[in-house]
Amino acid sequence: LSPGLLLLSASIAAAPPSGWHYDISVDPELRTLTTMVCFKGDAPSVLEPGTKLAMRFTTRAEAFAGEKRAAMQRADDGFVWPPDMRANGCAVLELAMAKAADNLGDMDLARYVGKDVLISPDLWLWQPDEIPDGAEVTASFKLAPGVRASLPWRSARQRRFEQNRYAIDRTTFDWQSVMALGRFEARDIVVKNATFHVAQLGDMSSRKRAMVMKWLQEAASAVTELYGEFPADQVQVLIDPVWTWREGGVEFGQVDRGGGPSVIFLVSSKASESELAGEWVGVHELSHLALPYVQRDDAWLSEGVATYYQNVLRARAGQSSEETGWQRLLEGFERGRHNQTGRSLRETSARLGQDADYMRVYWGGAAIAFLADVALRKESEKRSLDLGLRQLKRCCMSDGRRWAALDLLARMDEELGTHTAAAIASAHLERTEFPDLEPTLKELGVSKEGDDVRLDDRAPLAKIRSAIMRRAR
Ligand SMILES: [Zn+2]
Repeated sequence: LSPGLLLLSASIAAAPPSGWHYDISVDPELRTLTTMVCFKGDAPSVLEPGTKLAMRFTTRAEAFAGEKRAAMQRADDGFVWPPDMRANGCAVLELAMAKAADNLGDMDLARYVGKDVLISPDLWLWQPDEIPDGAEVTASFKLAPGVRASLPWRSARQRRFEQNRYAIDRTTFDWQSVMALGRFEARDIVVKNATFHVAQLGDMSSRKRAMVMKWLQEAASAVTELYGEFPADQVQVLIDPVWTWREGGVEFGQVDRGGGPSVIFLVSSKASESELAGEWVGVHELSHLALPYVQRDDAWLSEGVATYYQNVLRARAGQSSEETGWQRLLEGFERGRHNQTGRSLRETSARLGQDADYMRVYWGGAAIAFLADVALRKESEKRSLDLGLRQLKRCCMSDGRRWAALDLLARMDEELGTHTAAAIASAHLERTEFPDLEPTLKELGVSKEGDDVRLDDRAPLAKIRSAIMRRAR
């Protein structure tokens, strides 16, 4: 065959595979990650990583089919599959994981936590350029004794003896996620309808680990106060203990959506039981899961909803009093009001990454959530932000779509038979001033006396006020 003919035969044979399977393994020292992938049907002409950075740390790429083996050639965007080996082809690729963690300098891609490792699938989940519709993609792991893997993926166990077999959906390739590998403590906790697969990484005393589990359990059950169940039925939770010199319980949290819901918490190595009890980061991050994935520019909605509920749900769960719940909202709204940017909320939100006007975006969004909640409750007992989110869980949580905020609110309104939430949001989004909340607070009977909040039971909407902050009976 001449090279021209080779090229021709490669392009003729381009039938997308009906699915593929990954076998993932790692050496006992957790330094090299090996991915074997086998296609049903034709393997892609080029096998690509989620990020091109993976090419720098991939030390071996070999295709095989039956008895034949061949090295895969490097191209710009991945490794080229030998054209005559594509039918039901398999490939083995090796990632120098330790080297990637040392050299990438990107916390989201690769890093060690003590002896455990966090590594993004973008570096090792090799894929075709396009994921064909309906492709069945699965993965399993071959790990040294004592080594575990934590992923957000769903189990797809087919036979009883299969220890681990996972189904991988399209969002795994489109959205960020992370795998933990190591000899960490893995425990499941069940809160109502939801199972939390918890991996406690790095070094922490068993006493501290027990404290963290209790804190997580309480945060998760606070979120079930939203509408009686947790918004997701399974969640990957990664606990990363961080050394800090200052006081504090939970330093940071982040939600990922690729392949299923996931939350990573950076818990202070100094955290005490009293610091963890009723702290806000846990409820905030888990509340994020009450909304489908919202596009990054519209952080005002995802952060606003989480910020509103981090205070509302802690009060409903009895982690704070009703007064404290309102006090925290009022103080937050003040912080938002003082963070003037000279731009509309919509613009400030889209520029969050560069300008970091967090208070304006988080609390501006929380103000919209609050106004929408009250307005919906005023319209009908069958409407509220809680009930809207419950509808979104039913219609839209697992559709793999990344939503524009106003489209999502319009969808929620449609489910509730109204236009209220989207109308309130669109009005406030274009304004440079923080929403004026005084008239609504007055109707609810929430006012400030000096630094303290006062609740008036004779206010016209006092019932709505307590329905917001009190556990439903
Ligand atoms: Zn958040």
